[in-house]
Amino acid sequence: MKSRALSITAAILTIGASVFSHPAGAQQPPSPRPAAQSPSSEAALVTKARGIHERVITLDTHDDINPANFTQLSRNYTTDLGNQVNLPKMRKGGLDASFFIVYVGQATTPDAFEAEGYQRAYDQAIEKFEAIHRLTKVLAPDQIELALTSADVRRINAKGKKIALIGVENGYPLGDDTTAVRRVQEFYDRGARYMSLAHNGHSQLSDSNTGERDGWKWNGLSPLGKQVIAEMNRVGIMVDVSHPSKGSMMQAVAMSKAPIIASHSAVRALCNHSRNMDDEQLLALKKNGGVIQMVAFASYVKETTTPGRTAAQDALRKEFGLPEGTAFGGRGGFGGGRGGRGGGRGGQNPIAQLSEDKRAELQRRLADIDQKYPAPARATAKDFVDHIDYAVRKIGLDHVGISSDFDGGGGIDGWNGADETFNVTLELVRRGYTEAQIAKIWSGNLLRVMDDVQRIARELQKSPAATTQ
Ligand SMILES: [Zn+2]
Repeated sequence: MKSRALSITAAILTIGASVFSHPAGAQQPPSPRPAAQSPSSEAALVTKARGIHERVITLDTHDDINPANFTQLSRNYTTDLGNQVNLPKMRKGGLDASFFIVYVGQATTPDAFEAEGYQRAYDQAIEKFEAIHRLTKVLAPDQIELALTSADVRRINAKGKKIALIGVENGYPLGDDTTAVRRVQEFYDRGARYMSLAHNGHSQLSDSNTGERDGWKWNGLSPLGKQVIAEMNRVGIMVDVSHPSKGSMMQAVAMSKAPIIASHSAVRALCNHSRNMDDEQLLALKKNGGVIQMVAFASYVKETTTPGRTAAQDALRKEFGLPEGTAFGGRGGFGGGRGGRGGGRGGQNPIAQLSEDKRAELQRRLADIDQKYPAPARATAKDFVDHIDYAVRKIGLDHVGISSDFDGGGGIDGWNGADETFNVTLELVRRGYTEAQIAKIWSGNLLRVMDDVQRIARELQKSPAATTQ
């Protein structure tokens, strides 16, 4: 998800109390161990975690890219560009494998669902595919290789190189019914191993999670979306349900012949956001043999406000005649969830249009709210692993993995870039997960699904019925 926070409101943003709050008690780790109490036991824990982190394959299923960071001469991932994922940061943090994302935002222009709109989307997708191939073939073939199978992942890892994989975020660039189905094969041939049928905003294939706010277009998958899923099954691309609506996710589970994934979502019971999965969805995913790649996106891990704070801010908006949803800023930043909408439509920020006196008064009143109803502290690695614990308890260890959404809005305190990846392993070890369990969570589960999807594709390609789809 991309950030669209209003920077202008930063002027009246007051930092709330940074009280460390951590939901205690609700989710105990699967095999609880007492917190390390002495410096020596803490050191032993860190040493143990370091060993595990070294030995397991760490795989992050969602890292966005900007093609401008894949240029041949000056700017590319062989140097630390100051973004969240690049080769030096992957080495520093011991992140072995990354799904780089062919992301295309959902256009809303009048021609979005006509030939011109589809062509622009397709061109953007191809530019990103080519950027990733440039990294592995031209810019740094000595440091990173593209993996197309789980065997590739293990082979490349054994050589001590980093591993690139490709995920497609939004099936929108597949185009209409004249191109969509054949482009599934094309995207597979270009290296795509998972794809979501929508991003934020409905596509021609599927409803998006944003329909909870905006209403539905298809009540789940469109007829073309169903054909695309059948073709993804046949070709061997994992179906990703992170951005599509709950309705389309449940329909995808019902019709897919292979397990599906949520490439970057968290648990709705712990953070009520439409991008997260509720218990019914988690159980459906388990039954389907799929995996949820828990996302370290601050505002999906932990709510950025409290009921009291929301009510006070709503009242203030009314009093100052500001449109509903006008952003006041808040902790956690990165424009996730609530921050990204409302306020400032068409570049006009309603706050900027207040008189100077009114703005000063608004600033004082917001400071009062911060005092009385402090914004929750930003999500931490502990909060993040609470989501993993919850899902492990609810659907079992075999259905849970890890993702960051780095360079696309992701990041939490303690895991804010690939260079801090060890902190996640450390927290898992602290909670009593074994090396074998951590190996599954960090990559084994996702690679198992990838194997299943490719095996089922081979079977479907052998069966004559599949060719009629
Ligand atoms: Zn996303």
